Amino acid sequence: MSLWLSGIGVSRGIAIARVQKMHGGELDIPEYALSASDVEGEVVRFYGAHRRAKEQLREVRARIPESTPGDIAAFIDTHLLMMDDRSITDTTVAHIRNDRINAEAALQRTRDALMAVFEQMDDAYLRTRRDDVEHVCSRIQRILLKSERQLPASGERGETFVIVADDVTPADIILLAQQQIAAFVTEYGGPLSHTAILARSLAIPAVVGLRDARRLLREGEPLIVDGEAGHVIADPDAQALAFYRDKQAAQVRHRAGLARLKGRAATSRDGVHVRLLANIELPEDARVAEEAGAEGVGLYRTEFLYMNRKELPSEDEQYEAYRRIVSAVSGTITIRTLDLGADKQVDSGRSHGPLPTNPALGLRAIRLCLREPDLFRVQVRALLRASAHGRVQIMLPMISSLQEFRQASTLIAAAREELHAEGRPMAEDVPIGAMIEVPAAAIAARQLARHARFFSIGTNDLIQYTLAIDRVDDEVNHLYDPLHPAVLQLIRQTIDAGRGAGIPVAMCGEMAGDPRFTRLLLGLGLTDFSMHPASVLEVKQIVVESNVAQLRDAVAAALECLEPQEMRERIAALA
Ligand code: PEP
Ligand code: MG
Repeated sequence: MSLWLSGIGVSRGIAIARVQKMHGGELDIPEYALSASDVEGEVVRFYGAHRRAKEQLREVRARIPESTPGDIAAFIDTHLLMMDDRSITDTTVAHIRNDRINAEAALQRTRDALMAVFEQMDDAYLRTRRDDVEHVCSRIQRILLKSERQLPASGERGETFVIVADDVTPADIILLAQQQIAAFVTEYGGPLSHTAILARSLAIPAVVGLRDARRLLREGEPLIVDGEAGHVIADPDAQALAFYRDKQAAQVRHRAGLARLKGRAATSRDGVHVRLLANIELPEDARVAEEAGAEGVGLYRTEFLYMNRKELPSEDEQYEAYRRIVSAVSGTITIRTLDLGADKQVDSGRSHGPLPTNPALGLRAIRLCLREPDLFRVQVRALLRASAHGRVQIMLPMISSLQEFRQASTLIAAAREELHAEGRPMAEDVPIGAMIEVPAAAIAARQLARHARFFSIGTNDLIQYTLAIDRVDDEVNHLYDPLHPAVLQLIRQTIDAGRGAGIPVAMCGEMAGDPRFTRLLLGLGLTDFSMHPASVLEVKQIVVESNVAQLRDAVAAALECLEPQEMRERIAALA
C-alpha cells in the first residue's frame, strides 16, 4: 500500500527512484577520565584524527568538477578553514589537558559551546553555520571513534537512488552528486539549511525536515519525491506513478525551454523592461551571477568576510574582496553594509535574573554599525575605494528611521572626505540606499524616499517583523506568509513611495526569486528583482510572457478583496 508523507520541499523537481538509506548519522560520544600519564598521548591522538579529517576534505575538494557552481566548493573551503580555527583545536586540547578527558568528549565540549554561540544568532544564514561546526566536529569524532560514515554506492547499470538520511553534510552531497543521486530526503533541516542550499545549486530535488523518514521508509522500495510540494510517496500505485511521470516530463521540457532564454532581455509582452539581478555572498559568486544572465548584483551580503575568524577583516582585505567582485560584474553592484547580529549577552546583574534577549530585535545591522562607528568606517572606506573599479551602490540594512539613514550617510560622507584628502581614487557618485525590511521603514517610506537614492525590499525580514514570526523558528514557520494582506500592503506602499519620489525600488528577499510571486510583483509595479542566480531564468520566463499593464489592474482588484482566501485565489490565478 502507498504511504504519503510530507516534509519541507526545498529543491524543486520530481524524482522517481528506489530508497537507499544512509546510516550512521548519530554519534554516541563516550566520556572517560584520563590518567595524568595518558594526557599527552590523547593530544597526539586528537591531532592525528584532525589531520586525517583535513586530508579527507581536501580529497573531496579535489573531486569537485570544474563545472560546479562556486558556492559548492566554498562550503568545503569553509570547513577546511574551520578545521584550522584555534577555537576548535586549542580549546579541545585545553579540555583534554585541563579536564583530563578523552579527545572525543573534549571535542564535544568545544562543539557544544561553539554551537550555542551560532544558535543565538539572529541572521538565518549565519545561524546555519552551526551546521558547519557540527559537520566539522563530527568528521573528526568519527575518525577518533573509527566509525566513519559509509556513503551508499551507486547501483548496478547506473541505477540512481533517493538518499534517505538523518542529515547530509556538504561533503556527502558533493560525493553523492557525482553518483547521479535522484533526490534527497532528510529528517532534519529547513529551507535555509546547507542541504537545501546545495541541493538547489546542484538542481537535485530535496525534501527536508521529514521526521522519522528512515523509520517509515523501507530500503529499496520505490519512492516518488516532489521537491516543490515536499511530498514523498512510498510504494506508489499506477495512478500516482503516471501522474508524476507526466509532471516530471513537463518539468524536463520546461527546463530545456528556459535555457533558450539566456541571452534574451527580460522585457514583458507590453514592453516593460525588468532588471533581474543576483544576490551573492562570496566573491566567487560574481561569476555565477554573470553566467546566469543577471544584469548586476542587487545584494552582496558582506557578512561572510567577517565569519570564521577572530580578528575583523582589515580595510585592505575588504577592499581587495570588493574590488574583485566589482571588477567581475559588468552592471551595478549593490553592496550591503554589515548585517551582523549583536550583543547576545544576558544581563545577569538584573535583580529578576537573566533574561534571554531577542537578537532579531536587538543591536544588529545598521544599529550595530552606528554604535561602533570604527567598524563601519573601515568597511565604508573599503567600499568607497572599490567604487573606483565599477558601479557600486551602498545599501544600509535594517533602517527603521530617517535619523539612522542620515547618521549613516554622514559617516559615509566623512569617510569620503578622508579618502579624498588621502588622494585615493573613488567613483564620483556612489548612491546610498535603504533596505526596507522593518515595517516602520515601509510605513514611513515616503519620507525616507526623499533622502535615499534607492530602496530594496528585504521581504525575509519584513515578513518576520510584520507578522511577529521568528524566521528561524521551526515551530512558527507555517505562519510565515508572504501573501498576508499586511505584508502586501507594505510592499505596495514602498513601491509607490519610491515611484512617487522617482527612485528605483528593488526587492532582494526570497520572494523576488520565487516564480509563484513574479506576476503579483509585476502587477505591484516592481521592476528590479534580485535573487539567487539559479532563479533568474525561471523568473525571466514569466516576465517575457506577461502583460504588465493587465497585471496591474488584476493585482489592484485582487488586493481590494477583503476575504484573504479570495485574494489568495485571485493572486494564484494571475496569468
Ligand atoms: C531580507 O531580509 O529579505 C534580506 C534580503 O536580507 P537577509 O536575508 O540577509 O536578512
Ligand atoms: Mg534582512
